Amino acid sequence: MEKYELIVIGTGPAGEKAAVKAAYFGHKVAIIEKGKDFGGAEVVTGTLPSKTLKETSLYFSGKYEKGLFGIDRDLKREASVEDFMFRKNFVTAAAGKEIEENLMRHKVKVYKGVGSFEDVHTIRISGEKKELIYGDYIIIATGSYPYHPKEIPFDGVRIHDSDTILQIHRFPKSLCIVGAGVIGCEYTTIFSTMGTEVYLINDKDKILPFVDLEITKNLVSQMQSSGVKIFFNTSVSSISSPKNEKEMVKVTLKNGQTLNVDMFLFAAGRSGNTKALNCEKITLKIGKRETLEVDDTYRTNIPHIYAVGDVIGFPALVSTSMDQGRVAVAHIFKTQDLEHLPIYFPYGIYTIPEVSMVGITEEEAKEKKMNYCVGKARYSDMARGKIMGAQSGFLKLIFIKDDLMIQGVHIIGHIATELIHFGLSLVEDKKTLYDVIGTVFNFPTLHDLYKYAAYDGLSNLTGHRVKP
Ligand SMILES: Cc1cc2nc3c(=O)[nH]c(=O)nc-3n(C[C@H](O)[C@H](O)[C@H](O)COP(=O)(O)OP(=O)(O)OC[C@H]3O[C@@H](n4cnc5c(N)ncnc54)[C@H](O)[C@@H]3O)c2cc1C
Repeated sequence: MEKYELIVIGTGPAGEKAAVKAAYFGHKVAIIEKGKDFGGAEVVTGTLPSKTLKETSLYFSGKYEKGLFGIDRDLKREASVEDFMFRKNFVTAAAGKEIEENLMRHKVKVYKGVGSFEDVHTIRISGEKKELIYGDYIIIATGSYPYHPKEIPFDGVRIHDSDTILQIHRFPKSLCIVGAGVIGCEYTTIFSTMGTEVYLINDKDKILPFVDLEITKNLVSQMQSSGVKIFFNTSVSSISSPKNEKEMVKVTLKNGQTLNVDMFLFAAGRSGNTKALNCEKITLKIGKRETLEVDDTYRTNIPHIYAVGDVIGFPALVSTSMDQGRVAVAHIFKTQDLEHLPIYFPYGIYTIPEVSMVGITEEEAKEKKMNYCVGKARYSDMARGKIMGAQSGFLKLIFIKDDLMIQGVHIIGHIATELIHFGLSLVEDKKTLYDVIGTVFNFPTLHDLYKYAAYDGLSNLTGHRVKP
């Protein structure tokens, strides 16, 4: 039996980065992948496909140009679903190849097949070849899969989850999306931008519950003004499968309303990919929604077995999954370069418009009875915003009244997910409004939003308009 210092299960962002880092530090590493392609949800079914489709929908709808000239671009022909998927297929193929090459370059041995525990150090690989391999250490990076409630008759043709929606052969004329979390909201705005009539079903009274309420209210009103119909405080009671192409999917809501739609997408929740691992055999502890429980070094209840990425649940992002993999390797091989994840990290939501945030929301500040104040700036008031023709979007700073220290940054608008990184360093480095005011930015740029929001914050504090 071949022996390794480290076996990693899964080639998503968490597994790839863990394997490559351990190999970079000179260790003998194997990685196992059950899928046809490398890269997991980041590359194959989630992040990159959906982000590329977002950009593509903006391109085909002419919304980029609309921002500039105030009119819709006159498309010569309607975009086909092949056009829509073309760039996504290119990007995901390129990204998958890069991962494969990175593993090869670092001499990580790749096994294709499903990995499962034979005993605490031995992994059985069930692929074209059946093999057993031994690992001193094992990192589980098997990710997550879309949750399937029993009452929904998923068929991958008209009734989808977030994996199969990427395989559609035609655009839905109308689409009912259940779940107003990140994935549900992103696909709502992507399909709505492509001209699909979208119905978003949300069992709560607000969308994206962890985001600042003022931002989500603004997103809701932008979604509604572009034609999305949002149903709050209700969920699906039943769905009927269409018997043929002409028949509609009939969705009955718990509030008694019925929707007849072309397609249906369930985007509410994911579960950890642990079923195939044979965890019971080695008494590996399983937590909520089939996730694995770990300590702050990502070690499971079995000391030489670690778990990272989506399989351990929150926050389930590419960025944090990659670093969890690197942190686990730092602890296993004592590389002393990255002992833990930072306290603050940004959230990026690739809706149209984008939303991004770091630090506390206004609701949290209220709940904690913080002596806080806010400062805001609108895209349309910035020189760069005027050049772009921005009609909406704003940045909001939350700061403490006594020392002006910035505790939260919230942005909705063009490239919010890029602009947030300056905000991240403000919150991380405990900077104040005066630090922002004292910073020189390129002109004209959207970073001016920070300066204007800081001046607005001072004005709100003193009651006098402070001129930027
Ligand atoms: C639609 C969608 C959009 C998203 N958008 C974003 C975004 O914009 N930004 C962001 O940061 N995150 C986003 N995410 C989340 C992000 O994709 C995940 O957090 C990330 O991919 C998790 O990485 P991972 O390595 O833990 O797992 P995964 O990427 O899921 O990879 C796990 C891998 O393990 C393999 N595997 C599983 N079980 C076994 C086994 N027993 N044996 C062998 N191989 C196995 C799988 O085939 C897979 O390749 C999105 C997710 C979805 C679904």
